[in-house]
Amino acid sequence: MKIMEQLKNWDQETDVVVVGYGLAGGVAAITVHDAGASVLLLEKMPNPGGISILSGGGVGIAHDAEGAFRYLKRTCKGTTPDDVLWPLAKGMTEILGWVGEMAKVSGTEPDKSETRGSGTYPFPGTDSMDSIKLKDFPAYSTFPWAQGLRGGARLFKIIFDNIELRKIPVMLATPITRLITNSDGHVTGVSALKDGQEIRIKARRGVVLACGGFENNSEMKLQYFELQPVYPVYLGNTGDGILMAQKIGADLWHMWHFHGGYGFKYPEFPFAIRHVWAGPRKNNRKMIWIALDRYAKRFMNEYPPAPQDTGARPLEYYDPDIQDYPRVPCTLIFDEEGRKIGPVAMVIVNDQRYHYQWSEDNTAEIKKGWIQRGETLEEIAEKIKAPKEALISTVKRWNHNCAQGSDRDFKRPSQTMMPIATPPYYAMESWPIVSNTQGGLVHDTTQRVLDPMGQPIPHLYAAGEISSIFGHLYLEAGNITEAFIGGRIAGQNVFREEPLN
Ligand SMILES: Cc1cc2nc3c(=O)[nH]c(=O)nc-3n(C[C@H](O)[C@H](O)[C@H](O)COP(=O)(O)OP(=O)(O)OC[C@H]3O[C@@H](n4cnc5c(N)ncnc54)[C@H](O)[C@@H]3O)c2cc1C
Repeated sequence: MKIMEQLKNWDQETDVVVVGYGLAGGVAAITVHDAGASVLLLEKMPNPGGISILSGGGVGIAHDAEGAFRYLKRTCKGTTPDDVLWPLAKGMTEILGWVGEMAKVSGTEPDKSETRGSGTYPFPGTDSMDSIKLKDFPAYSTFPWAQGLRGGARLFKIIFDNIELRKIPVMLATPITRLITNSDGHVTGVSALKDGQEIRIKARRGVVLACGGFENNSEMKLQYFELQPVYPVYLGNTGDGILMAQKIGADLWHMWHFHGGYGFKYPEFPFAIRHVWAGPRKNNRKMIWIALDRYAKRFMNEYPPAPQDTGARPLEYYDPDIQDYPRVPCTLIFDEEGRKIGPVAMVIVNDQRYHYQWSEDNTAEIKKGWIQRGETLEEIAEKIKAPKEALISTVKRWNHNCAQGSDRDFKRPSQTMMPIATPPYYAMESWPIVSNTQGGLVHDTTQRVLDPMGQPIPHLYAAGEISSIFGHLYLEAGNITEAFIGGRIAGQNVFREEPLN
């Protein structure tokens, strides 16, 4: 009876509903439209862009599929089946052409000079891997609600322009709350909230979930991550799609894995602020600080191969003897030479309520007390309540390592090292950050969502980080390429579904 009622009471109808207007959702919607079906794009937040608009905008590409497959297999370490990795590997050899076509609409093109030349890690196939960004063009002013925009906003602008060009209907501020199924378990539509009212939208061919991960769902992070707390950079992704799909039987994979580093969190903002050090070591960029645990000891290479991708991992250590995480928060220590190098933080925000301009020389944040200042290391130790002798001896050893040109303790690359020797000194609290989660809905080679028995849930697809394949080690520029390739595959396959009456 309930089901019959549901089937009759539709407020709207379309062939395909795409949930979430980030890159994956935008790409899926364009693909469905270009195949010849009607599509409706629904976004929970008042503005589109999701995490995508905040990203660096590196798109992973590959020179050959065989090499890319070997590299992806090693990065996923058995957590994702081979047959699911193949379409991504193949897609990485083709995606650049498609991005180039989309980019024409906005008057830009891929920037061939901005390639990386190899994968992040020295795994088999690394020489087949590369990444690329779009040439800069006037993109950012289209998105006044966001701040700190870079390459990701250029990518989002080309997708945004293509959605507008095709007049694909978009409903903003419309969170999906439920997937509707019929008596055969087929997904027939969605329930959403519009202006506080429930609306039901029929999706004749199916639904594509592209509504991101669970970065801002504290309960899910508590259950799936060992490290606590882990702060998000974007507020809109609260695992809704994962939960809704679970309710109708979806299976999950590698929920523990996330892409993230260490950064800053202040009560003034509900999200975290990233530090500015990113990108490959080949830039030879100095990193101004060392990171200390609560005993004023170093515990990590502060500049791992991709600092924003795995930087959070060393903070995860839980000490049963103290029943706590001694590295959360950790403390970053630097000196006057370091302070003058430039802003230590990069404020990126997709939310018009919380814009903040970090000062170029960090002095405004010293005044606010976000950065502690001390004429001596003793004074710093007092201010941060750290053991004095340990702090002084840690800095002394670091300076000795710098003079030797080698970090004998944690193998930080020598080109990133600089001494901490010029007063005054500075200290900042630093917390784990999740840029995006990598765990989520299990999907097959055509992006159909699977149940725990490996059976597809009829007419339900997923794309982007909600169903990311990266189950062990994140590959720089991998999430966006996955959003593009997975979005296209989901769009092509949901289009092929026999429409329900
Ligand atoms: C600072 C930063 C830099 C990064 N740099 C890179 C990079 O250079 N290269 C790379 O590959 N990856 C990068 N990443 C990761 C990458 O940007 C994301 O994983 C990817 O863009 C996710 O795309 P998506 O479309 O799946 O999700 P999103 O872009 O997050 O889109 C999901 C959308 O769904 C909406 N939504 C959520 N719930 C609902 C609901 N119930 N109903 C309707 N809508 C809903 C959200 O509001 C959001 O707009 C970076 C991440 C960060 C934070």
